[in-house]
Amino acid sequence: MDLLRNREIAELLARAAETAERGSDKAKALRRASRRALLWPVEIGQLRKQQRSLTELSGVGPWLARVIGEWLDQDVEVPEPPPLRRGFQTITEARVRVQSVGSLPIHGDLQMHTVHSDGLVSTVEMAEAAVQIGHSYIAVTDHGVGLRVAGGMSAESFVAQWEEIDRIHEGGLLSDPAFRILKSAEANLDTHGAPDMEPAILASCDIVLGAFHSQLRRTEEQTSRYMAAIRGGSIDVLAHPRGRIYNFRLGLVARWEEVAREAARRQVALETDAYIDRQDLDMALLRVAAEQGAFVSIGSDAHHPIDLPSIDVGIAAVMGAGVPPERVLNCMTADRLMDWVREGRRLRRSVR
Ligand SMILES: [Zn+2]
Repeated sequence: MDLLRNREIAELLARAAETAERGSDKAKALRRASRRALLWPVEIGQLRKQQRSLTELSGVGPWLARVIGEWLDQDVEVPEPPPLRRGFQTITEARVRVQSVGSLPIHGDLQMHTVHSDGLVSTVEMAEAAVQIGHSYIAVTDHGVGLRVAGGMSAESFVAQWEEIDRIHEGGLLSDPAFRILKSAEANLDTHGAPDMEPAILASCDIVLGAFHSQLRRTEEQTSRYMAAIRGGSIDVLAHPRGRIYNFRLGLVARWEEVAREAARRQVALETDAYIDRQDLDMALLRVAAEQGAFVSIGSDAHHPIDLPSIDVGIAAVMGAGVPPERVLNCMTADRLMDWVREGRRLRRSVR
């Protein structure tokens, strides 16, 4: 008997949620478990073989354990996921890929949030957690002022955070004294690609991420806003480009070849946000980025230290898409990355 995989269980759960009574507790539990299944640390078949209870899995109570148990017994047929749930890896699949033939040499993580915006721990706690999983640097990328729902920060707050970072470095507050916290930000881009932060603050960042957070349900293609963001010259990385969310929002559509070509020309990296329900860009679009010679950045988008290891999802996507290591920012040392940022900013001032 072929055992169902976590990805198939996730799809079955999402489908069951769609047929359950709308807004009911059952519908909510099914929907929640569908998302959590992407993060289950073991394949469900293995758990079954070891005769362990399915309630060990996050989001699975006794009722759902029975429902899933029946699917496993019947080995039910699982249809292809609709676009809203297509192109997502489970963490177990990502880990297998990362642990297989020669993983990428990853030095750091380039997107995360702290209590300064919508994260749950302090800058120093996040940094120490990153030390513990073997990174040699992180970019702390709290939100710019425009994203008020996520505690967006004023210029003064960024300056205060950077002073805090200096104190962490100078005071030797991390167990790895060579560890670098890059001063960064996730600027909110308006639909014309303009950031919500002052040029002087952006120029002081070690690396600047920019992302769209509004008008993400437009269905007509949005190439022009991407071109404007890339040509605007104020961002080094375009973060979670499509703005998609698993089983919730499809994300924007654009002529991706053109976008990736322009990003390559202006040395703006395209991100794969490894947060489990984002996975944005996914493997298919990372392939387009690679074909056009664009640089790629990987960010866990962690809001808590427990999210940091999910960077594996981004590493696996980049590996699966065949992006060469020399085009992956995270494969650069911190010094090399800072050179890359300077080169890019110089290049964008000269390209018209
Ligand atoms: Zn964001």
